[in-house]
Amino acid sequence: MNRYRPEQRSAYYRVSGRETEKHRKAARQQKRKDKIVFYGVSAAIICLLVFICGFTCADRYRSGQEQTVERADASAWNLRLVNASHPIPESYPIDLTVLKNGQSVDSRIYRDLQDMMDAARSEGLSPLICSSYRTAEKQRSLYEAKVVSCMGQAGSREEAEKQAAVWVAPPGTSEHELGLAVDIVAESYQLLDKGQEETPEQKWLMEHCSEYGFILRYPSDKSDMTGISYEPWHYRYVGKEAAEEIMRQGICLEEYVQM
Ligand SMILES: [Zn+2]
Repeated sequence: MNRYRPEQRSAYYRVSGRETEKHRKAARQQKRKDKIVFYGVSAAIICLLVFICGFTCADRYRSGQEQTVERADASAWNLRLVNASHPIPESYPIDLTVLKNGQSVDSRIYRDLQDMMDAARSEGLSPLICSSYRTAEKQRSLYEAKVVSCMGQAGSREEAEKQAAVWVAPPGTSEHELGLAVDIVAESYQLLDKGQEETPEQKWLMEHCSEYGFILRYPSDKSDMTGISYEPWHYRYVGKEAAEEIMRQGICLEEYVQM
């Protein structure tokens, strides 16, 4: 019969103690390995994210640049900027289409203009195009008439010209000479003044003109940039894409072509 001996017991503890120490060592090594794997994987994920982000940002930057180039092409016929500092070139070619009421517009905007007028009429409205393409001579006579009417208040011809230019563009600087602008009034209210904005026709046009490629060219808060006072009747064709962007952002053509 085996009897329990104290030396056997201490030997058992010695062996058991060595085993525990071994396990601890192994556990520490495993922990270290786990840490290395964790940091390695984290670093790889971060690198991957930075890489993807870099590509996406570069792509966005590139497409932004392309958009800017596309938008900044002020020489595109529909985005041509005409104002006091951007006169119409001497030999600007123009192909006109005559409307039913005798007015003329650039042939390229005829279809969209017609569609816009038809859509307004189908809503029971009565918009009336009271001015569209003007020759340089016509523009000159309108401008001269305005200068004369300003002479009373202005002390000099120079001052009268300055005042007149806020209301009527000097010849060579009016969009009407491009055939891309139309003045539209309500049949029931044909005055070219601020009251025009209250007519159902203007309310509809301001809301829907961009769907047909037109913008309200001289908004009330952009006179500093356009050089022309608020005209809630003057619509300019710029094409549907540009029109929707301009009206959505509440900017003027000067700002759009410089974006
Ligand atoms: Zn006008």
